[in-house]
Amino acid sequence: MKTLSILSLLLIAQISQGQVARNPSPVKPKMTECLFCEIGIGSKNSPRQISETSVVGKPATEGLPSLYEPQDLVDINPKYMTPLYQKNFTPQYIASGKMEKMRLNAYQAMTRLLDAARAARVDLFIHSAYRSYEVQCRVFSGKLVKQLSLDGFISKQYTSPYALSEMTSDIKAGYQPEFTRDQLQQAITEVNTRSALPGQSEHQLGSVADLVTMIPKYEPATPSEAKPQYSGYALEYEMQDTPAFKWLQENAYKFGYVLSYPNSEALDFAKPNSRTGYIYEPWHWRFIGADYATRFKNCGRLVLREFLKAIDQNPAYQCNKSHISTAH
Ligand SMILES: [Zn+2]
Repeated sequence: MKTLSILSLLLIAQISQGQVARNPSPVKPKMTECLFCEIGIGSKNSPRQISETSVVGKPATEGLPSLYEPQDLVDINPKYMTPLYQKNFTPQYIASGKMEKMRLNAYQAMTRLLDAARAARVDLFIHSAYRSYEVQCRVFSGKLVKQLSLDGFISKQYTSPYALSEMTSDIKAGYQPEFTRDQLQQAITEVNTRSALPGQSEHQLGSVADLVTMIPKYEPATPSEAKPQYSGYALEYEMQDTPAFKWLQENAYKFGYVLSYPNSEALDFAKPNSRTGYIYEPWHWRFIGADYATRFKNCGRLVLREFLKAIDQNPAYQCNKSHISTAH
């Protein structure tokens, strides 16, 4: 966090001098991540009423104000978290304020869901939940640094889970990454199919949990992910073939939870769904309350943001027959 603030200041200094706006290609950013922090700042001036059923999506109008933070966030009991997280759970960790959090209502429903899953011998844990705007910025920036490397747009290779801090250290030591605005935009667009821009993540609502289960044949992309206690508990589309996902599909709505990002129309896991703008995320479950969740389940052909828009216009909205399928 401290690093981020220092870098944010660098960017603000650049903007105030008009350097960013006037810079011709190629771009020589002092720090790339702060360019993306700017995206949500515009929405600060048009605060929205945020509720459990607010639409949060890719268009700028569906973003959340960067300063939005739910007021009733509570710590998640570590017994509901992944085995790796539980291993890190120490008194110092609690004191650091880094506990994963959710909004009270959503959390209470999630504990009931996970208790029911355990009673049914279903292997299911929370991987992550609430993400502040600042955390989203850091997550997105880390993925962007990796993507720029992958695309060959920067000469150094940053591929580890610590890509962002490695690049940050190198920049402080004098390294000047160089890429054009088009290359930067290409990398942003690519990352944005897997990860929301800061201010556009449903996780900022505090009513979303990414859930994981053991994926038996999971092969980690990098050796650092191969730690025995983590292996298999991954955010991967293979989750769809597990008993836990089947259980969620059959039961999550009873607890008010629904899947935000279904598979692409082409059933290609690497391709984003054209109506959500994101790839398939069988792990990402959002709380909208049991009544709405039950109605959504009967709206098989609508994606969540379409359903939320419909009930925003008419809270009594029910799907007509042409929408009914068994896709959820
Ligand atoms: Zn998620």
